[in-house]
Amino acid sequence: MLAASGSLQAEGTELGVARKAMTVLYWMRPVQRQVGGRWADTGGSVQTKFHVSVDGAVTACRYDIPPGATVVAVTPDWHERATCYNCVYRLWRDCVVSA
Ligand SMILES: [Zn+2]
Repeated sequence: MLAASGSLQAEGTELGVARKAMTVLYWMRPVQRQVGGRWADTGGSVQTKFHVSVDGAVTACRYDIPPGATVVAVTPDWHERATCYNCVYRLWRDCVVSA
């Protein structure tokens, strides 16, 4: 998703340091609605963004991954799958810094 056409060359170079498989996953979270000053489940649920995790327990943006989360892929191309900006930003920076 970061790979905008036209900048593939430059990004390809940078990817050399980010070639580590990460887990891309999402989960369903209940939709809540305020009723009479309290939050109540509507019974519906909504899919989260595609987050990235290094260890499978916590996402890069610091969410605890709930049981039953759906793994989209475990891939070095995680940056092309993830839709959580915070995950990508943190991992991308870490990869570059630790290289
Ligand atoms: Zn995230």
